[in-house]
Amino acid sequence: MKSPCEESSILDGKALAQRIRSELRARISEGVESGLPVPGLATVLVGEDPASSIYVRHKIRACEEVGIRSFHKTLPADAGQATLLETIQILNQDDAVHGILVQLPLPKEGYSEAEILEAILPSKDVDGFHPLSLGALFQGRPGMIPCTPKGILRLVDETEMDLTGKRAVVLGRSNIVGKPVAQLLLARHATVVMCHSRTRDLEAEVQAADLLVAAVGVPELVQEDWIAKGAVVIDVGINRREDGTLVGDVAFEGASKKASWITPVPGGVGPMTIAMLLENTLEAGWGDSAD
Ligand code: NDP
Repeated sequence: MKSPCEESSILDGKALAQRIRSELRARISEGVESGLPVPGLATVLVGEDPASSIYVRHKIRACEEVGIRSFHKTLPADAGQATLLETIQILNQDDAVHGILVQLPLPKEGYSEAEILEAILPSKDVDGFHPLSLGALFQGRPGMIPCTPKGILRLVDETEMDLTGKRAVVLGRSNIVGKPVAQLLLARHATVVMCHSRTRDLEAEVQAADLLVAAVGVPELVQEDWIAKGAVVIDVGINRREDGTLVGDVAFEGASKKASWITPVPGGVGPMTIAMLLENTLEAGWGDSAD
């Protein structure tokens, strides 16, 4: 790891994700040639939320680029829970589909997100949101790891930081980012502190961090003077400002003067999430042969 006195380095998630995607493309082409099945990912979009539609399009394009077959289902916003469950059952039984992703959030009315996520076969749960996947992660057993937390760990690994005994501060306790990333860091022997909206002195907690993972969804909440010199900063937040530009949860310019490594927004964690989705689909399709 670089010395904390040096200017901070950018942890380029876009470049790392591109590298991972190229490697996946090569592995898939080789594996399929040797008789392994073409991995297949089904995406399910309910309604016409513009941001969700864009995310799904990106995922489909990423699949095509690496040689994963994609299956896409769009349901109207008012399709209802029973129709969505039926769609999932059909995909569960389809041998060409190895991964199933239901794009979240679901429309506010008429759906139980928890029931939908539980309906996906755990072996096809490439998002890693099924309670069995999260339970396995909690117990340190093999299972699907949620894409964003998995991508965050890969970025940390790029810095060559040894997490053992380090103080890792996670801002945010959601089921999809904060909680699973904390488990992954704990498994690497970090001392993990989880902060949220009720944390008493957030600034002091952040100042003690060797590694900061910010996943709150509050534009530039974390300021330069919150960051300890030499800390590694992973900014998960994606916040759109009124002028349309994207910012993270960390005030990048100031923080980059203090951090040893920092992810930009955009181009940090976001591209890694999709790369990990592709990797999880390959693992779901090939099992141990994907190792
Ligand atoms: P959630 O809204 O589900 O959770 C936000 C968490 O932040 C909650 O635990 C909340 O605390 C905490 N929080 C909110 N405000 C504050 C505050 N002022 N001080 C301290 N804690 C606070 O968000 P997600 O985890 O889904 O996402 C977080 C961010 O990450 C968003 O910007 C999202 O867009 C982005 N994201 C990016 C991804 C990527 O691929 N790059 C993927 C997923 C998310 P409490 O629990 O007390 O309410």
